[in-house]
Amino acid sequence: MKGISRTAKSINDSLTLALTSRGKELKAKGVDVVSFGAGEPDFDTPKHIRDAAKQALDEGFTRYTAAAGIMELRRAIADKLRRDNGLDYAPEQVIVTAGGKHAIFAAIYCLCEQGSEVIFPAPYWISYPEMARAVGARPVAVETDARNGYKITPAQLQAAVTPQSRLLLLNSPNNPTGAVYDEAELRALGEVAVRNDMAIVSDEIYEKLIYGGPHVSMAALSDELKGCTVVVNGFSKAYAMTGWRVGYAAGPPEVIKAMCRLQSHMISNVNSIAQKAALAALGGDSSAVEEMRRQYEKRREYLLSRLADIPDISYPEPDGAFYVLVDVSGYYGRRAGDVVINDSLEFCEACLDGARLLLIPGRPFGADEAVRFSFAASMEDLERGLDRFEQFLNNLR
Ligand code: GLU
Repeated sequence: MKGISRTAKSINDSLTLALTSRGKELKAKGVDVVSFGAGEPDFDTPKHIRDAAKQALDEGFTRYTAAAGIMELRRAIADKLRRDNGLDYAPEQVIVTAGGKHAIFAAIYCLCEQGSEVIFPAPYWISYPEMARAVGARPVAVETDARNGYKITPAQLQAAVTPQSRLLLLNSPNNPTGAVYDEAELRALGEVAVRNDMAIVSDEIYEKLIYGGPHVSMAALSDELKGCTVVVNGFSKAYAMTGWRVGYAAGPPEVIKAMCRLQSHMISNVNSIAQKAALAALGGDSSAVEEMRRQYEKRREYLLSRLADIPDISYPEPDGAFYVLVDVSGYYGRRAGDVVINDSLEFCEACLDGARLLLIPGRPFGADEAVRFSFAASMEDLERGLDRFEQFLNNLR
């Protein structure tokens, strides 16, 4: 055979998933690892959702569904978007996808040509550049920093635009910085996108995990913006349903139709039982979602209070999601045993080996000066993990 395609070769592993698996393997072997790895709620999926899945199974709901998802679920998602986000979509403008990740991938695939440019703010979620490359597009990361609250400005966006720019990919609340864009900021960025004939993919997966101002959906700001925006969301984070793989996208009819065509050839449909579970999530009591958010808020407070006592680090206080991106570059150049730490990969490697604490390196997020803490971890793990982190830094020479 002639080997792996150039496009496939250009795609890197998902380090968040790889490292998290490594943490789970070590734990299974009996190693006492504290993991602040993947952003995965440590809560169980709420009971009424699990019950709905059992019922679907018992009732034999085990066959193919429509490629775009069962109509009841598409309708329930349209209702949710109206209720929570002020967005008016027909159920036909909604597609149920295999997690938010797959929705973003399909949207990029359907909106970009070979050589198109996909613009997103850095630090960015690990998978964005890989997804762009996977469809032959070019990822264009625009640096943000503390001065602008780790948010891209309209002037920065305009400066990054070229005739090849097709898509603005915006994630609010942001993984990994926790930045949340307010209405005025979204409006200003949206204007730049519209002026340059670009589409927008608005990744709102952390919508329910907010500790500051309200979550605003880009598409709700004007008809013009709604006409060029694909809203992406999912059940993983809000309902502690990471393993079920159910996400969705809503947007202009022609884009959703194209995504449905693609999906029909790729996965046929999302797991039928998981779709019924998702339906129960939207229809049932939503108090569990708020209760989990409150728990994250307490953990956030605790994590920030501990980090505040540690010298030579800096970090943005997250307004949303469940991560803190901690700049540890003040410790680069120091030794952990015989190893000199020069970047975020070496830092995390040494921290796992020496302190049995799993952190995610910032490099694949476009932030090699930093490491990412996830506070989707129990309070007990946060306490033990922070003790280990402090000790690890103290032992560096
Ligand atoms: N989005 C989560 C994270 O960043 C889950 C892992 C992944 O899909 O990358 O940790």
